[in-house]
Amino acid sequence: MSKIIDLSHRIEKQLPTELVSFMRVAGEVAASQGQSLYLVGGVVRDLLLGRTNLDLDLVVEGNAINLAQQLAQINQGKITTHPRFNTAKLQWNKWSVDFATARSETYDKPGALPRVKHGSLARDLFRRDFTINTMAIELVPSRYGELIDRYGGRNDLEHELIRVLHKKSFIDDATRIWRGLRYEQRLDFQLEPNTLQLLKRDIPMLDTISGDRIRHELELILKEKYPEKVLRRAEELYVLHRLHPTLKGNGWLAEKFEQARQLSYPNLPPVGLYLALLAYSLTNEESEQLISRLRLPKSLAQTLRDTISLKTKLESLANPKLTPSSVYYLLHDCSPPAITANSLASDSPVAQQNIKLFLNRLRYVKLALNGDDLVRMGIPTGPQIKEILQLLHEARLDGKVTSNQGEEVLVKRWVNLANS
Ligand code: ATP
Repeated sequence: MSKIIDLSHRIEKQLPTELVSFMRVAGEVAASQGQSLYLVGGVVRDLLLGRTNLDLDLVVEGNAINLAQQLAQINQGKITTHPRFNTAKLQWNKWSVDFATARSETYDKPGALPRVKHGSLARDLFRRDFTINTMAIELVPSRYGELIDRYGGRNDLEHELIRVLHKKSFIDDATRIWRGLRYEQRLDFQLEPNTLQLLKRDIPMLDTISGDRIRHELELILKEKYPEKVLRRAEELYVLHRLHPTLKGNGWLAEKFEQARQLSYPNLPPVGLYLALLAYSLTNEESEQLISRLRLPKSLAQTLRDTISLKTKLESLANPKLTPSSVYYLLHDCSPPAITANSLASDSPVAQQNIKLFLNRLRYVKLALNGDDLVRMGIPTGPQIKEILQLLHEARLDGKVTSNQGEEVLVKRWVNLANS
């Protein structure tokens, strides 16, 4: 029998008191209902690594919804349930905990969503992606804090290895290929040699995955601290190639991602900006292929389209004699991440300066007068109202008027000129 590893001290030390007390109570309530309760997955991995992770995932051998409901009453929390999967989310104060009923999964065909059956913890852990994510911690009082490690997760953590649980893993679900690269690069681990062989063998299986699921994995990557590391590795292994053959995870991308982070600090860059940089070198046609492969939602698709079309305007933007209103008209119908991506990609300090002017000031320039005001000033309704408003806007952008009064004076002067 293997030695019992007690992690209760680690839990106390690494997790906030409120979550620790919550888990103690949850274990007691589960035991009183005759159910078993475990802390599972990423948080257990990160407890052992000493990394911060407050996303508690609990697995119940029994009924997750019943247990979550009882705990919602005790904590005066809000609960959201998914009876079809027998899962629940409990939220209170600033905390959120996921409850799942232990389940096993089988796959009818590669890339399909799994068929789900309720089952034991062991089966639940076996359906997971990598051994380092298969560890669990007992929460019922009699065994509170004991580590459950059926698939060698701790040993792989110690040896810094990402290992699948069986040789069909990537065939069942090729999103695990991207997930594996994400963990490898985030943790600075290595794909275990046999897993690496399987991954290379199964790269064509990526084509069995729906656009939505691939996009979800890509978004998770773009939320990592250094997404470029994952993309570089993905290029090396021809995984990126499968997304689109012309994408590159090279040094240029790393440099631009770093600049995007500096610009967005203290926030992370928006996914759209990272995506625009990743797709920067694509042609129109290629970017349409990427949009459809990833089934990008409207706004992200627009960002990519704007990014590519703006590349052709960079030369005009590099003209130092450009008036502010001309800068405005070149950029005003492009999405901000597309504009920022082009600024980062441009080598011209003038173009960068013009883009900065647009983003920081020109896009916010508003007129004091509106169409009704012009009518009140005696201008007949019709297309000229729109034209005058546009001319006024231009005058404001170029600093020819700087105040509300100035707008009125200008309109009156135009009217007088027209009548004279
Ligand atoms: P992270 O690992 O990114 O810190 P996490 O561990 O909470 O966060 P999630 O993506 O929320 O990761 O997934 C929760 C758990 O579900 C993971 O620990 C993983 O083992 C498992 N899982 C997620 N996606 C898959 C998948 N495609 N195949 C198998 N297991 C998966």
